[in-house]
Parts: sequence; structure tokens; C-alpha cells
Amino acid sequence: MGPIGKTGREPAARDDPTTLQGQPPVTNSERTHPAHAPMHQFPVLDGELVIGGVPLSRLAARVGRTPFYAYDRRLLAARVTELRSSLPAGLKLHYAMKANPMPALVCHMARLVDGIDVASAGELRVALDAGADPAEISFAGPGKGPGELRQAVAAGILINIESPREIPELAAISSDTGCAARVAVRVNPDFELKSSGMKMGGGARQFGVDAEQVPELLAEIGRSGLAFEGFHLFAGSQNLRAEAIVEAQCKSYELALKLARFAPADVRFLNLGGGFGIPYFPGENRLDLATVAGGLAVIADRAARELPAARLVIELGRYLVGEAGIYVTRIIDRKLSRGQIFLVVDGGLHHHLAASGNFGQVIRKNYPVTIGNRIGAPTSIAASVVGPLCTPLDLLADRMPLADAQPGDLVVIFQSGAYGFSASPQSFLGHPACVEIIV
Ligand SMILES: *Cc1c(COP(=O)(O)O)cnc(C)c1O
Repeated sequence: MGPIGKTGREPAARDDPTTLQGQPPVTNSERTHPAHAPMHQFPVLDGELVIGGVPLSRLAARVGRTPFYAYDRRLLAARVTELRSSLPAGLKLHYAMKANPMPALVCHMARLVDGIDVASAGELRVALDAGADPAEISFAGPGKGPGELRQAVAAGILINIESPREIPELAAISSDTGCAARVAVRVNPDFELKSSGMKMGGGARQFGVDAEQVPELLAEIGRSGLAFEGFHLFAGSQNLRAEAIVEAQCKSYELALKLARFAPADVRFLNLGGGFGIPYFPGENRLDLATVAGGLAVIADRAARELPAARLVIELGRYLVGEAGIYVTRIIDRKLSRGQIFLVVDGGLHHHLAASGNFGQVIRKNYPVTIGNRIGAPTSIAASVVGPLCTPLDLLADRMPLADAQPGDLVVIFQSGAYGFSASPQSFLGHPACVEIIV
């Protein structure tokens, strides 16, 4: 168990990486380069990672080909259970499905969470097919087209308004279809989520309506006869600092409370966002959920008094699904170039852009990687895992300590359940498409 905790050091440049035996000696570089957080979520049986109860090589045989993504149903359910047991009772948990829109996974999630957040009409169709209750689906996005707005109104879902332009369009659709559009206002707050991997609120943004413009927008919503339900605030993504999340959620709540005075109807829905991160890179640790839950408990108490009609919602994507998924790719060649080992695999950045470091990262760092059929074997080599694409960007692991892997072995990239398959340029270079399974 826990291969990464032991093996995930950032390797130092070594004279001859091919002659390392057993555990490499700890160097100064390793002391200053911290390890990956341990990946204990998947059990290990006879040296093999086990996903959804199936050992990896058996699973690969079942899929019939590599590369593939595999998502573990039990881990998905366990994460929701863990959240529910620490978050205040009554707080609603939504799944932001852009993190992983695989239909079978959305189906699984729809039964576990209280609602689904969609960001396009395509995602809306998947959410409805998955059996999500339209009353608990919400739709956010900066450029909702007229067709998408019409589909959303007809479906009876909640639309997060992000531009004054949407109001007359929704009013026209409402009178046309005879159903009043259900709306909330997505607010671009006047503060930022500190230490966020990706900021999506505060300052000048394409998302939401600037807080100072919201009172005027609310008056317009009232005049247009749309069914106002509340507010949506989303400050950022991939945050591992609990105090920063608590601070942003407190400020979001305060702002919503201030804006509620201008609302044309009671606030019945208040989405405080999320942005909970997971550890990807050396030195990153898992989020301190207890601290986040403590902050939310304070807000829930206040909301019960100050906004008694409001359902309080948080929306999470990555945190719900990211750790439950792996990417599996087979080694097709092992090459030695000027003392450096290259494990050439049949998958690459075209399937897993984020692991190659090209999805919003400033400096490329290694994802947690292991040889999934040699767990527990000594990490006796330092090797780079590269894909088959004719570009140096196709790098999945850069000089990492790994078990002594050979062609045919299965390389596993952890933390691949979110922003993997659907966030990668599959057709780049014309290699076969990747498979996704849920086990
Ligand atoms: C992307 C997005 C999310 C999900 O973010 P994660 O970091 O995956 O949790 C939630 N809400 C909105 C509005 C988003 O755009």
C-alpha cells in the first residue's frame, strides 16, 4: 500500500540512474524536494493496484486495450459519505460535472449528491439522462447561447444569470414557452479566493456580474417577471488551503446577505461555490476538511436566522471525483539515452493533458505515478515516462524513481478522475481514442 508515499520523490540528477539498487540514497535535493502525498485510496493485492475490487492486469484484460481511464464507484461514494459526515446537516452538495462528464459516472454521482451543476446544454442532456431532478440542476457559464437558454427553461432547471443580456432573452423565452425561467444571479465578488490554482472571481472577469452591478440587475429581473431564486458565487478552483476557502465562503455569504436586500423575492438558493483541491504535486497535502466544515457550520447557523428560506449549496467537481480515477497506459519501449531511461507508453498528453503539465500549470511538475503491476517493488530506477507523440511536451513523468519497469508493464497516473479524458486533445496526432470505464 501507499506506493507513492515511498517512491514519489523528485529525483535528483544522478550520474548513472541505471545502476541504482533498492532505495536510492536520500540526497540534499530530495530533502529540499518534498514527496507526493501518499496514494492510499486503492488497495494492493499481490503487488497489483486494485480498482473497484479488480486487480489492475485483470482489469486491463477486461477492457481489452490500453490506455484507459478507470473510476472506482466505491471511492466516489466514500468521498460523498465523508463529506456528508463532516459538513453541516442540511447543506446541499452539488456535483459540478465539467470535472468528469462521463455519462455512467454522472449517473452514479446523481444518486449520491443533491444536485448537478452543468455548464452547457450538452452537459444538461447528460445530467437529465442520468436521472438528476431538474429542480436540482443549475446552469452556469459566461456565454450561454439562445438555444441553450431555451433548452434550460424548457427543462425547468435553475439558470445562473451572468450577463444583463440574458434577462430579456429569458423573458422572451418565458412568455413564448409559458414557463417562467428560474434564475439566480452569479455574482463576481469584490474579493479573490487566495492561493487558488485557478482564480474565477474577483477583479475583472468574464464570469458572473460584478457585485456593484447586481442591485440594478436584480431590479431588472423583478421587472421582467423571471422567477428569482437566489445567488451563486464561485471564487476559484483547486485550493488546498482550508483557511483561504473558509475566508472566501464567509465573504461570499456576507456579500449575498448584503445583496439579498435588493432581491425581488426571498433568497431560496445560495450557492457558495467550492474550489476544494486535491494533492497532485510533491509537497502538497490533502485539504483539512474539518476546518472547512467548521467555517461552513458557522455560515449555516447564520443563514438559518438571516436567510431562513435559503437552501445552502456547495458545488464540487474535482474534490468529488479526482482521487477516484486513474489513467492506465502500457509501456511499449524502454530506451536509454545518454544515461537517462525513457519508458515509452501507448498513452500521452492527447489523453491526459493535465499530467503533461499543459492544462493551466505554470511550471511542469510530476503527477503521482507508479508501475501498477509492480507495487511494493523497490524503486530502483529513475525514469521518464513519455508518450508516442512527436513533441517533447508529451511527458507524463520526468525522471521519477520507479520500479524497474519493462515493456508490457502498466504505468498508472493517480489523481486522474477530474479534468482528464474530457479535458484532453484526443485527436492531436491521430492516435486511437482512449477508453473510460467505471468499476
Ligand atoms: C469548474 C467549476 C466548478 C468545479 O470546480 P472544481 O475545482 O472542479 O471543484 C464549480 N463551479 C463552477 C461555476 C465552475 O465553473
